[in-house]
Amino acid sequence: MKNQELIDYLESCGVCRVCQLRYLKARGNEYRDMQQTFKRLDVKVPDSTIVVDEITDEQPLKKQRLSICSICLGLFSEDLQRQVIQGILDSDFAKYDSDGIVLAISMPMTLQLRQLSMWFALQRKFGRSSVADHNAPDVPIKEAVKLILHPIVCAKLGREYDANGLMINIELRHSSEEDVVAKLSELNRAAFPAKNHRRVEISRGLLEKQYQPSRIKGDLFEQYLPIPPPAVMDPLQLQSIELLGPIVCVAGRYRKLSRELSHTPWVLHGQRIMEDSIEEIIVRHVAAYFTETPEKITFMSSGREDVDVRCLGKGRPFVLEIPNARRSSMTRQQALAMEQAVDCTGKVSIHNLQVVPREELTHIKTGEEQKRKYYRALCVLQEPVTLDILQKLQISDSFDIQQKTPIRVLHRRPLHTRPRTIFSVEARVQRENRRLLIIDVVSQAGTYIKELVHGEFGRTTPSISSIIGKPIDIVALDVVGIDLDWPADVNNTEIEVT
Ligand SMILES: [Zn+2]
Repeated sequence: MKNQELIDYLESCGVCRVCQLRYLKARGNEYRDMQQTFKRLDVKVPDSTIVVDEITDEQPLKKQRLSICSICLGLFSEDLQRQVIQGILDSDFAKYDSDGIVLAISMPMTLQLRQLSMWFALQRKFGRSSVADHNAPDVPIKEAVKLILHPIVCAKLGREYDANGLMINIELRHSSEEDVVAKLSELNRAAFPAKNHRRVEISRGLLEKQYQPSRIKGDLFEQYLPIPPPAVMDPLQLQSIELLGPIVCVAGRYRKLSRELSHTPWVLHGQRIMEDSIEEIIVRHVAAYFTETPEKITFMSSGREDVDVRCLGKGRPFVLEIPNARRSSMTRQQALAMEQAVDCTGKVSIHNLQVVPREELTHIKTGEEQKRKYYRALCVLQEPVTLDILQKLQISDSFDIQQKTPIRVLHRRPLHTRPRTIFSVEARVQRENRRLLIIDVVSQAGTYIKELVHGEFGRTTPSISSIIGKPIDIVALDVVGIDLDWPADVNNTEIEVT
């Protein structure tokens, strides 16, 4: 099969220049200067019919009715590009500041069937030795969209291609779709009889999988749909455009200043136990700037504390994963305003607020078990602290404990005995009340500190209680440090130099 023969045949079937190039397996830039590509491939095409895909606003709409390509139904035509770009500009596009965009085009099934029909036609014309059963003879439409439509739309909108950018979902329709799908359903029953009378859903996925010459005979196909694909009266039309903003991640560190605040909304039997939570406070003050759907935000942190435990020191790293974000950046002033708004609640304080790349979320998600946590516990004895007790609680060498899942969390965690490492213990007495001890503990993440102190009837061994040989209880607990140097320190109060 010579290139010229192929192109002459496609031309006679009403196939556009772009699609002709797809059947010549053109790649990348070869679609830019099509005439040049044809020349290089030694194919002669009449100059006048070359459709230029560059859109120029000055160019008046051509009066002459261009015939519609029987394969792509005008997908690569100037007219459709114009519709798509206008559709995007008429949407909420301007509200998104994303530098990158990606097009997701949903096409009617008619296109897939026309591609298959042409596949059969080429096999008949040139023989199966030239046109194989398994490998499609053309560059797939989806790939061609990426090579041709993407660059044009990006250039027109002044944005770059970015698979993680603003997703523009474009739905196209064609007037023949309903009839064709009805025919396809009949064909499908004949070609792939369903087992157990199961109804088979006709989908694009099904077409991709089952509809190729290796799985279906051309003669059977032709009983329902014509080979080669016939001419059409009207082209593809734009059905709808929907925008989906990128996922933006905002990280920072929080300090929990209240002993009556849960980490996330605390609801029991449909009733709220606490009226607010760290998650809700932070989301409330950060989300509005980035998205109109704050309920879709995911809040993550490097561990968490109990309701009655404060988190002080540098605070605990957290991140908000914000889908469908309209903004992908913020200034330091804006970050500072959010930090101050959260601080005003008096319950939580945040700092180091910043937009981070999504890849960095691994810092928060992994290695949790290996991290060290720094605690300060206020503990009470039944009698005044002795020198002997104080000496026993100056431990600078690490030691291991065995800890059974505490009774208080058994309703939501399985019963295990887990080894945990305690890196150091350091105690001092409270001057005003000699029954009170302040104990600093450095432990492996995941250690239950309250149980480490009182031992919970021997369920944690050794414990502070077993080490001193006396009952001891915990009055209050603070987290004072978490060894995760992420996110980076930023000082949002500094004036930004731009
Ligand atoms: Zn075409």
